[in-house]
Amino acid sequence: MSLKITGLPTPPIISKLPSIGPTIFTVMSSLAVEHKAINLGQGFPDYPMSEELISLVNQHMKAGHNQYVHMNGLPELRSVIAEKIYYLYQQHINPDTEITITPGGTYAIYTALTTVLQPGDEVIVFEPAYDSYIPNIEINGALAVLIPLVYPDYKINWELVRKSITSKTKMIMLNSPHNPTGSVLAKEDIIELQKTVAGTQILILSDEVYEHLIFDGMEHESMLRYPDLLERSFVCFSFGKVYHCTGWKLGYCVAPGALTTEFRKVHQFNCFSCNSPMQFALADFLQNKESYLTLGAFLQKKRDYLLQLMKQTKFKPLPSHGSYFQLYSYKGMSDESEKDLAIRLTKDYGVATIPTSAFYKDGKDDKVLRFCFAKKESTLEEAVNRLMKF
Ligand code: PMP
Ligand code: GLN
Repeated sequence: MSLKITGLPTPPIISKLPSIGPTIFTVMSSLAVEHKAINLGQGFPDYPMSEELISLVNQHMKAGHNQYVHMNGLPELRSVIAEKIYYLYQQHINPDTEITITPGGTYAIYTALTTVLQPGDEVIVFEPAYDSYIPNIEINGALAVLIPLVYPDYKINWELVRKSITSKTKMIMLNSPHNPTGSVLAKEDIIELQKTVAGTQILILSDEVYEHLIFDGMEHESMLRYPDLLERSFVCFSFGKVYHCTGWKLGYCVAPGALTTEFRKVHQFNCFSCNSPMQFALADFLQNKESYLTLGAFLQKKRDYLLQLMKQTKFKPLPSHGSYFQLYSYKGMSDESEKDLAIRLTKDYGVATIPTSAFYKDGKDDKVLRFCFAKKESTLEEAVNRLMKF
């Protein structure tokens, strides 16, 4: 059934995103459901989230915390975030003027871009890039200037960044830990970034939704550590990603007062205020530092378990130092495109993954698939049992 009342044609509209269809995550998850495949594609955990956090939501709902909270986010939650930032990065952030709670990281990124971009502006984006970045830039009439990360480590070529800067460059977008590659920014990258933006009007959008999910004893090189970078940054986070509740769609944006004031003008007429019981629950939960200090080790164990299991297959791992993801190469195993192979593995072998080519505007194909290891051990075992037959 579809809407058909008078039989007259629907008035035509001009698409703002003419070349965009459903995201690769939607496509691969639907295919996984259709073929009853194990879903190592879209990034979401299949293990339970914290019982304590669930019961805190429950308690707050029962206590009547079910009405709008402040449009900038529950003050107690913003305060505990500011405390966490000071504890982890030794940076004083004003929770009243520099933190805004948002319905997820994606929304925070979209809002930041919409806040600053004027038609004709240029934004430097590193590819492979999370799928929302380029459409978010283009819908604002701006241009994404694409710079490839260098395969197979996916490092930034800073010389190329400097050569790509023009008088129209409004912003550089960063993502660490990185989706889809699991690469992370190093101190040398920060020094290069500082050199690159010093004396310019260039802003930074730093997508840090995988903040705590960093491995191998590495430090998360957050913009929050560096005042000279932070004073020109929107830094975006996701509670859903780090606390294993992606369906909650709750996150936040940290930015200096002048940027936050403008960000909130866009936010107040698009969302106004986010889900209140979850904010109350997180404000309690984050009081305990263990809630975030244990996350990296928890996910690292899963990355390592998948790595060990995958030795039984012919897939070759590329380095992953953070996020939910690891890339595996199938060079020499098949000449198929990443997309064709991802579809075939889902249909014929019962394991869904994500083709990395979906993160490139021109579909660059290095014969690598993205695996999500944020799964129960039994899920990873069964998936690899199936992949061993390939
Ligand atoms: N950025 C990246 C790199 C992501 O992988 C995700 C995952 N969903 C997001 C942003 C968005 O997070 P959220 O689900 O909170 O919108
Ligand atoms: N961030 C998730 C991923 O990369 C997916 C979120 C989404 O489906 N938009 O898999």
